[in-house]
Amino acid sequence: MISEKENSTGFIQRLKKYKALSPILSFGKKYVYNIYIRARLSADNVPSEVWIENTNMCNARCIMCPREKQTRKSGFMDIKLYEKLIKEISKHKGKVNRVHMHNYGEPLLDKDLVKRIKLAKDHGIKYTYFVTNASLLTPDKSRQLIEAGLDEFKVSFYGTDSETYNETMKGLDFEKTFNNLKDFFRIRKEMGRKAPIVILQYLPLETNKFRIKEFIFLMKSLINESIGDSLNIFALHNYGDGRSYLKPGKITGICRYPWRTMVILHDGRVVLCCLDYNGVQVVGDVNKNTIEEIWNSERYKQVRENFKSLRYGNYQICKDCTVII
Ligand code: SF4
Repeated sequence: MISEKENSTGFIQRLKKYKALSPILSFGKKYVYNIYIRARLSADNVPSEVWIENTNMCNARCIMCPREKQTRKSGFMDIKLYEKLIKEISKHKGKVNRVHMHNYGEPLLDKDLVKRIKLAKDHGIKYTYFVTNASLLTPDKSRQLIEAGLDEFKVSFYGTDSETYNETMKGLDFEKTFNNLKDFFRIRKEMGRKAPIVILQYLPLETNKFRIKEFIFLMKSLINESIGDSLNIFALHNYGDGRSYLKPGKITGICRYPWRTMVILHDGRVVLCCLDYNGVQVVGDVNKNTIEEIWNSERYKQVRENFKSLRYGNYQICKDCTVII
């Protein structure tokens, strides 16, 4: 897939050909890139990606995650509310392409996770996905998830031995999780299945940053790249107002979450993205309105207008965001 960045490069190259327009380039590439993105941005009547937080609880205390600052109520999404959402999403086939079964929590803590995935697949949801620490990915759970039709999951695995892993993903155990992964890949092969595909992700931090090569070596032996498994080395960023690693500067890019993704917390409130771990930028509630109504509400439209003009100042979580470039 051609990325927007590559497209923008192409756009800038094309612009250079028209001499009359070339003064625009003197404002800088970022300026031109924003013009290009602004012209392309248009929201469909529903988001192409919906994140459904099945739980905001976690069994780990990873050092980069502001879990200790979470003050909102912990819980699991009511299965009836979940069913309502899946039924609505299934009416927009071809438009909502992905359903993420997680947000700020460990999805495998949810005893209904397999049921939720099966329900989504039975309703024709094209792509189901979640991010997990895999500490609870037992052989039984692996089989059930494969049977349920899960399409993909990503594993946060931030260490290459007990020392680095246990120091980073506090509360979890390297040997146990690594064995879970080995079991999963063996079981998927035994079952003759090509899904779910898996991304194994590494995040270099103070505790583990010298182990990237070891991570690649260790994990390459597990994955099957020919069916789509991959490794991902992720870049550190601030976590909303909960963790600060990078000095926030003036935001010069347009965040595209409000044109693409809706994040639904386990209690039904809607927020702009996963970095809002306490739910302070609420833009709707699926207990009261449909996804479509919320997505087309004045509130969401206002966010789009503000983001388009790089007006992030009134958004507590967004104003110092280091995710957008
Ligand atoms: S600006 Fe940052 S915090 Fe705000 S919605 Fe976008 S990614 Fe999330």
